[in-house]
Amino acid sequence: MQTINEHPDMEEKIRRLLGSVIHPETGRDIVTDGSVEHIETAADKITVVLHMARPRDPFTLKIKKQAENLLHASFPDQTILVVVKEGGPTPHPEPKTTTTTGGIAHVVAIASGKGGVGKSTVTANLAIALRNMGYRIGVLDADIYGPSQPRMFGAEGYVPDAVQEEGEDRIVPAQPMDVKLMSIGFFIKPDDALLWRGAMAVNALKQMIHQTKWGTLDFLLVDLPPGTGDIHLSIISELKIDTAVIISTPQQVAVADVRRGVEMFRNPNVAIPVAGIIENMAWFTPEELPDNRYYLFGRGGARRFAEQCGVDFLGEIPIIESIMEGAEEGHPAAGIDPRVEEYYRTIGAQVVEKAVKKG
Ligand code: ADP
Repeated sequence: MQTINEHPDMEEKIRRLLGSVIHPETGRDIVTDGSVEHIETAADKITVVLHMARPRDPFTLKIKKQAENLLHASFPDQTILVVVKEGGPTPHPEPKTTTTTGGIAHVVAIASGKGGVGKSTVTANLAIALRNMGYRIGVLDADIYGPSQPRMFGAEGYVPDAVQEEGEDRIVPAQPMDVKLMSIGFFIKPDDALLWRGAMAVNALKQMIHQTKWGTLDFLLVDLPPGTGDIHLSIISELKIDTAVIISTPQQVAVADVRRGVEMFRNPNVAIPVAGIIENMAWFTPEELPDNRYYLFGRGGARRFAEQCGVDFLGEIPIIESIMEGAEEGHPAAGIDPRVEEYYRTIGAQVVEKAVKKG
């Protein structure tokens, strides 16, 4: 290990901290197994360079995150940079052949033409409504552009554990509110997201799909990235999706992106039935005027669009303060506000029916 050190007293402490990070595949700490290539302390910055066989593997990302967290906690005034370089021995060169998706009965994809329409909020609330209906639910947050399920479920600090099961690597999901949650957000920081776009994220997503300890689930809800593209096709090809739900706001509904979303699933090479469209933020009712509905962004657009496209209209959800607060505070409103739960139960029942009959 090389060290370039303006603060030699810090070096020993950094090495000790890194010595408590265990590589899940070798079972040895990253100092002993030679993964730490380089430590540098200069002015107000600590740089650690790790050598890893698979730099974009979730296990590597877990190690990187653990190292960053430990160093941040011990040196709060320093800028911490943990860089992972490709190299070093591969702990398990043999390819993984088994998948953990065998216990999942139905997979529902949640998609939208654009970001900001409430796709993640709907996914989280639907998950809670379905859980309240007695189903075993998992959520896979595959939105590499803005993974928000950790925030929705108040599981932001979760660092997935890696375990071995019958010689295979498995990733332990978070389990907030009895929902099994795996998110690409557990492995990346918001400012990393750009780097992750495209092919780099696909490998990590594949591992998250096939190596997460999902156990037995009635429904896995997959929060897809907004829009359409290669990343969608990669995710879609890894999972047997039974049905897709499209989220739109009244403003977005006439926009070509929504139609492209429907067409992506209908493409003969994809051939995933579209359960229908949910119109989110459909109207607003002020508390002091409970009988009034203000259709701020137009009325009935999603219903008309669904008719034109030949897909079902699954329902509308108004703008409700508790939905927004729940998303901020890590408690989906469907679990605490009976009005919100009612909207989601009605929609959830239709989604269940469509997922079970695959269309
Ligand atoms: P997306 O996943 O499509 O990018 P989000 O789910 O992150 O969108 O939602 C965007 C913002 O809108 C969030 O701040 C969320 O709290 C808010 N929001 C979504 N749906 C509603 C709703 N029905 N009522 C009130 N606020 C909502």
